[in-house]
Amino acid sequence: MEIYDVAIIGSGPAGLTAAIYASRANLKTVVTAGSKWGGQLMLTTTVENFPGFPDGIQGPELMEKMKTQAEKFGTKIIYEDATTVEKDGNLFAVNSYQAKSVIIASGANTMWLNLPNEQRLIGHGVSSCAPCDAFFFKGKKVAVVGGGDSAMEEALVLTKFASEVTIIHRRDAFRASKIMQERVLDNPKIKVMFNSRVTDVLGTDKVEGLKIEDCDLNENWKLKIENFPVDGLFVAIGHKPNDELLKNFPDYPNLPDGLFIAGDVIDAKYKQAITAAAAGCQAAMDAEKWLDNQPKNSE
Ligand code: NAP
Repeated sequence: MEIYDVAIIGSGPAGLTAAIYASRANLKTVVTAGSKWGGQLMLTTTVENFPGFPDGIQGPELMEKMKTQAEKFGTKIIYEDATTVEKDGNLFAVNSYQAKSVIIASGANTMWLNLPNEQRLIGHGVSSCAPCDAFFFKGKKVAVVGGGDSAMEEALVLTKFASEVTIIHRRDAFRASKIMQERVLDNPKIKVMFNSRVTDVLGTDKVEGLKIEDCDLNENWKLKIENFPVDGLFVAIGHKPNDELLKNFPDYPNLPDGLFIAGDVIDAKYKQAITAAAAGCQAAMDAEKWLDNQPKNSE
């Protein structure tokens, strides 16, 4: 059986940057890319904040370039989901192959509202990343859904560009930290709709409005606004890390030697392509150093 030096799980910016560094360090590298490869950037349109692309780049094109760069240095890409990662003596078993070290960079998924037209309009007014997309809403009206720190932060970022930001929250109080709530409530551009929920996004090619319900004290929901006019909907109700494989290592963050983790799977704070890429680079360099220090013939 072929034994790799590094097996990387995940093919977003963290996984593919790790692959570029590992394969360029002459390590025999495999990426378990997933049946849907590329991570969250595959769902975005223009990326304007990734250094090196002053005119912006489409998310899928950026991922294609990262993959080509990794393959150029010898990385093997396998288009399957990693279902098992187990330490087996000195080696790790990942699905049907073995590796001396493993980098888990399985990413995270944005939690969406599951509205009928939400997925169709992602990149056309529906977003989950104000730092990435606020710029496109200069002078426009937007809404943010959520009541945690992420929603507060998204709303504050949006005020730098949008003419009006409405936060729509399902309860009568935010769960965000007091300081973030104060900043939001003190901002004249931000309006708040409590006890309200979005039930659909309206628009054919781009977001044009929202259907909104509100509730009374007994939580009876009823239609409040048939078409609340906005150009953008920012969903900020949390992220779900793809951490199923970490459950095999219950002592996390104390991991077995040779196992490294990078990117959004353990980053609930920054969640940016560039920070994930940096974490992938660090993990690959750590793996290389760790492999260098292993006695030869350890497998
Ligand atoms: P969060 O704290 O879990 O808040 C999620 C919010 O979304 C809650 O208000 C929740 O409502 C709402 N929500 C969840 N599912 C919903 C649904 N289906 N429909 C409508 N609303 C829904 O998540 P987060 O804001 O992403 O923050 C995650 C962690 O990162 C937190 O610990 C936070 O403090 C931290 N964080 C910190 C900063 C900062 O310090 N600057 C910035 C961002 C995040 P309910 O309140 O009703 O549950």
